[in-house]
Amino acid sequence: MSNILDCAIIGGGPAGLTAGLYTTRGGLENVTMFEKGMPGGQIMNSSEIENYPGVTGEITGMDLMMPWPEQCQKFGLIHEMVNVTRITKDEGIFTIHKEDGTTSQAHSVIIGTGSSPRRVGFSGEDEFFGRGVGTCATCDGFFYKNKEVVVIGGGDTALEEALYLAKICSKVYLVHRRDEFRSSPNTIKRVKNTDNIELILNSVPDEVYGDKMGVTGIKVKNKDGQIRDIKVPGVFTFVGNDVNNQALIQEDGSFLCDMNKQGQVIVDISMATSLEGLYATGDMRIAAPKQVVSAAGDGAVAALQVISFVDEKLNG
Ligand code: FAD
Ligand code: NAP
Repeated sequence: MSNILDCAIIGGGPAGLTAGLYTTRGGLENVTMFEKGMPGGQIMNSSEIENYPGVTGEITGMDLMMPWPEQCQKFGLIHEMVNVTRITKDEGIFTIHKEDGTTSQAHSVIIGTGSSPRRVGFSGEDEFFGRGVGTCATCDGFFYKNKEVVVIGGGDTALEEALYLAKICSKVYLVHRRDEFRSSPNTIKRVKNTDNIELILNSVPDEVYGDKMGVTGIKVKNKDGQIRDIKVPGVFTFVGNDVNNQALIQEDGSFLCDMNKQGQVIVDISMATSLEGLYATGDMRIAAPKQVVSAAGDGAVAALQVISFVDEKLNG
């Protein structure tokens, strides 16, 4: 087998794993997926997924994603657990630069590094991060069993995670900066019908405070400047995500391919970027619906393109 990979897949979320399944099952024999952690992606942090076609009943993101890596490995996908620091291209060959100091080479690259939770920016957020301030209800919710918590945000994630926490905690204060939510109508209805969720609207977090043990409370400010002090041991923030595009940044600060102002990768409908042989998928691309099903779809589309691209490159 050549030392040069047919395809390097960067990121092992729904997009990367599906790209891995389709490239290997479609006949490429030399494909490695570089994923810095456990494969599965950000949906692994979700306590409930109810919109993946064919999957009914109450299932967690982890339940959904668990079988995906095994299915790929069956067709020969290799998983290398490493953080990719940079991707470069020289004379038609991509180089994958890794945090452990090694490099790999590839004829094509499918990147699907997704996005990461954004910080809100209130006083004490960084100081208490991991000690009462968090962004994963499935991971940390149990620590607050029968206690009160605050959730910040007004999108699908904040509302769904508030619903999840309401089942474990005695009370959830949902703090949102506007009086309308950016979420699906069904989820909004469920939140409004949940007795132990109190909505605190037109309000933003001002300061989280605590002691050596962790958070003991948070002050939230409404639009009239009035402060409300809420004594809670846990604060969950869900205020959106930033695209993980760091691996595309070159030594001179430019990007490997064309990006938009938000740092999302510009692709066409075949997930091809402006650079030949480089495909971008999932949450990191322009106009991403930010859904597991669409990220998986992107992975399949890119993989089918890569199979033809590599075949043409190597066999004419
Ligand atoms: P991601 O899932 O973000 O995966 C990217 C992967 O790349 C990660 O595993 C990461 O570790 C890896 N990575 C990043 N950078 C590097 C690097 N430099 N080197 C190596 N590896 C790297 N969608 C739904 O359809 N239904 C839902 O109910 C739903 N609920 C959600 C609940 C929560 C709490 C969250 C956060 C999201 C939810 N979403 C939901 C959205 C969904 O999770 C995303 O749209 C989807 O995971 C995007 O997949 P992706 O493969 O593009 O990226
Ligand atoms: P999002 O849709 O971007 O919502 C972020 C929320 O945080 C918004 O309500 C926003 O307020 C608020 N916010 C942002 N910055 C803030 C700040 N500095 N201070 C206070 N509040 C702030 O993010 P998300 O909820 O994580 O969802 C991301 C994507 O994943 C979306 O496309 C979503 O539909 C998708 N997703 C889907 C599902 C599902 O299909 N079931 C589940 C989860 C996520 P404003 O409303 O005022 O802007």
